[in-house]
Formats: sequence, C-alpha cells, structure tokens
Amino acid sequence: MLLTGKQPAEQLYSKIDERVRSMTEAPGLFALYDPEDKPAGWYLRSIQRAGEAHGIPVYARPLSEGTALPGLKAYPRTTPCTAEACVRLLDYYKVPVSGKHVVILGRSLTVGRPLAMLLLDRNATVTICHSKTEDLPSICHQADILVCATGREGLVGKDCVRPGQTLINVGGDAVEEEVTPIVENLCPFKGGVGALTTAVLLQHVTETN
Ligand code: NAP
Repeated sequence: MLLTGKQPAEQLYSKIDERVRSMTEAPGLFALYDPEDKPAGWYLRSIQRAGEAHGIPVYARPLSEGTALPGLKAYPRTTPCTAEACVRLLDYYKVPVSGKHVVILGRSLTVGRPLAMLLLDRNATVTICHSKTEDLPSICHQADILVCATGREGLVGKDCVRPGQTLINVGGDAVEEEVTPIVENLCPFKGGVGALTTAVLLQHVTETN
C-alpha cells in the first residue's frame, strides 16, 4: 500500500478549519528562517500557502532578527511536527505499532529522538541508528517499521529491506524504485510525511493560541 500524506493531512485540516472558525481571535504563526537555507525557504513558502488557505497567516522574519524579539522562549513547547506526523501517518493507515520493532535512521532532536519517544509510548521496541552505526543493512532488516530520516540519498536500497515491512521515507534516503516491489507499505518521500508535517504545524498553532 502507498501511504501518502495527503489524506491524513486533509482529515487534520478539516479539524483545523473547525477550530479556527470557533476562535474569537485569528491565530497566526511567527517563523524565523535562515535566508541561506534554500530548502527551508521552499518549506516556509509551502507553510505560508497552507496557512493562508486555512485562515492562519504566517509571518516570516530572518533568524538574525530572532534575538531582538522578546518573549519567544515563553511559547509553549509542542512535539516536533515531523515526528508527530510519522505517528499520525501510522495511525491513519492503521499500521500496528505496539510490540513491533521500529528502526529509525537518524538521531536528530527534531525527528529521530522525539519519534522514538512517541513510539515507545505506544509500546514499540525502538532502535535508533546514526552515522556511526555498524552494519546498517542487517539492523534495517530486523525492522517491522523502518523510518529513514538521514537525508542521505541512496542509503537504503534493496539490501536493507524485506517483505512485510512498512517504510517511511522521511529524508529521501530510500531508493524507492528498489524498495517499492519488496516492502508491504511505503510512505514515499514526495507526497509523504511532508504534507502531513505542515498540517501538524498548523494544528499546533490553533492549539497554542
Ligand atoms: P539531521 O539533523 O541532519 O540528522 C541526520 C541524522 O542522520 C543524524 O543523526 C546523522 O547521524 C544520521 N546519519 C547521517 N548519515 C548517516 C548514515 N550514513 N547512516 C546512518 N545515519 C546517518 O537531519 P534531520 O533534521 O533529522 O532531517 C533528516 C532528513 O529528513 C533531512 O533530509 C530532512 O530534510 C528530512 N526532513 C523531512 C521532513 C519531511 O517533512 N518530509 C521533515 C524534517 C526533515 P549523526 O547524528 O551521527 O550525525
């Protein structure tokens, strides 16, 4: 099965629309961005488009202005959006997690680590891999659910997967033409978790206003 992000995102957007309609003051998102980081700039524009479509204006300022802005630290902390999007995707497509072995490639504070915590809360057995992990293919083979979040294109090929697995290609690491005929479920890089991540972000905005 192809686990695309569009459908669970649409489900979430309808809740966001309802919430925005019920609010007395319009919510807004304030984003600090690095002008040198082009992919982050594209992502910001897609967030702005989604925000506009759902009544949430997104105000963007370069990171250099961030230190001059009082009160940012007082904002409530929420779960990192991509980690939450991965869990929501599994929920939406009813992929069982409890008791399953999830292997996460990547240990960043925004994706790998928070995702491991969310999955542990759902009784998964979690292995986190990183750039110093030895024999990655054999660890990947042991996974029921394999989350690829390193951003290293080509890292996960047919030698890393087996039938029956669910693979979430968060960072574009998996060679999709090689893994698609083998795994049971694939959440592709394009049209996958990214679409849902934006919806999760806007939902957090409506929750914290
Ligand atoms: P990051 O902070 O650069 O972390 C990358 C992680 O991958 C690190 O933990 C690194 O290990 C590990 N790694 C690098 N090379 C590896 C290798 N050869 N084998 C095993 N692990 C390796 O990146 P991030 O912010 O977590 O994002 C990861 C990827 O997901 C990026 O491509 C990003 O663009 C993408 N992303 C996609 C979405 C989406 O919505 N689709 C959202 C967020 C991020 P070390 O810790 O040892 O360096």
